[in-house]
Amino acid sequence: METEEDATRYLVAADILFANGWVAKALQIYRNMAADGHAVGIDKFRRIMQAYDALDPATRDLPGQRHIAFVGDHVVSTLHFNSNLNEYEKKVAFLSGVRMVELETSSQCNRRCHYCPNSKYDRISGNTYISDAVFNRVIDDLASVDYAWRLHFHGYNEPLMHFDNLVTRIQTARKRLPKASLCIFTNGDYLTKDMFCQLEDSGINAVILSVHMPPNKPWNERDVLQRIFDKANELDQKAMLTEYDAGKYMKFLLLGSNMTVSIHEGNYDDFGSNRGNLLPSVGEDVDERTRPCFHPMMFFIVNYRGDVVPCCDFVGDIPEHRPYVVGNVADASLFDIYANEKYTDWRINVLSTGKKPVPCNTCSQFDKRKRFDDDTQNLIDKAIAEAVAQKDGTLAAVG
Ligand code: SF4
Ligand code: SF4
Repeated sequence: METEEDATRYLVAADILFANGWVAKALQIYRNMAADGHAVGIDKFRRIMQAYDALDPATRDLPGQRHIAFVGDHVVSTLHFNSNLNEYEKKVAFLSGVRMVELETSSQCNRRCHYCPNSKYDRISGNTYISDAVFNRVIDDLASVDYAWRLHFHGYNEPLMHFDNLVTRIQTARKRLPKASLCIFTNGDYLTKDMFCQLEDSGINAVILSVHMPPNKPWNERDVLQRIFDKANELDQKAMLTEYDAGKYMKFLLLGSNMTVSIHEGNYDDFGSNRGNLLPSVGEDVDERTRPCFHPMMFFIVNYRGDVVPCCDFVGDIPEHRPYVVGNVADASLFDIYANEKYTDWRINVLSTGKKPVPCNTCSQFDKRKRFDDDTQNLIDKAIAEAVAQKDGTLAAVG
């Protein structure tokens, strides 16, 4: 094990193993980590040792009936498909699955791009800020687990429209979540050099600028390139091309800031998303999706009202998507919501192989791209089957 990042990953894996009942394996990881000189939580180490000592010596080192899959940084287990978890298990499930929390600090956007739900619903005429109660709940919960992954400050809004409020929120998050990677997506319309410097001072790690075309103007490289260079000049940054797919996508990195700043744009008519069936003409047509989707595992999306939805294609404040809201952080902790029955059912439905429920059945997001190999899918399917069997009381039937 080379880095502290690896060490964190192993400790999360050990926690999952322990929470899933695979005590001997968890203890083995903790012992290896301690022997390698990594900082391990002594209370948890002791708890795992006590649990191990309490097990029957004749059977405790035998492999248990557990199915745990590694997908990049994620550790997928039965915990993600079981809505009957204790408080500790809920946190372990959240930490091992979620890699991006998205928090919409305001509701307003100044544009109505035709490939965005904002073209059909009014997000332009007024603004509603996220309440302190909702914001603080998210930050408090993340701080309670020393959250060390991505926290994004945007949704279907333009975050820089209400800049002072945004910067205050970022500064609070920076203080409370020193390990988290803080990021905003912006259309860049409001971004001045002065704001750019204030963002650098706020503690944010990354700014991603999207170049959007004027209303109903078809995507074209010339206009996109011009906008990218104009914006880079305005911000006094040098732009370096890092990705290019002719006629479809381009991405530049802006050099010269202590933040990671990229500016990109793609042709959303071709590879956008129908956003949970709100925009049927956008993106590729999909007749019957069977490809598993990882979004309800890795995302935790909170809108300005505190509504949580299982993926960023859903808009929690419109009638068509209200049925897909899985909870509200004004009423429950992030961990309770992530582990509740509604959210768990989303993961069971979209992470397994086979037909997907509406609206995922026509979703083109990552429909062509395989996220994991067949062996990993097999483990995930088994973890789902085991969790469902636990729920039904038929665990012994799962092989
Ligand atoms: S795509 Fe972005 S800029 Fe365009 S309307 Fe939607 S949120 Fe606003
Ligand atoms: S299949 Fe599409 S709509 Fe369904 S959860 Fe995944 S990204 Fe969202």
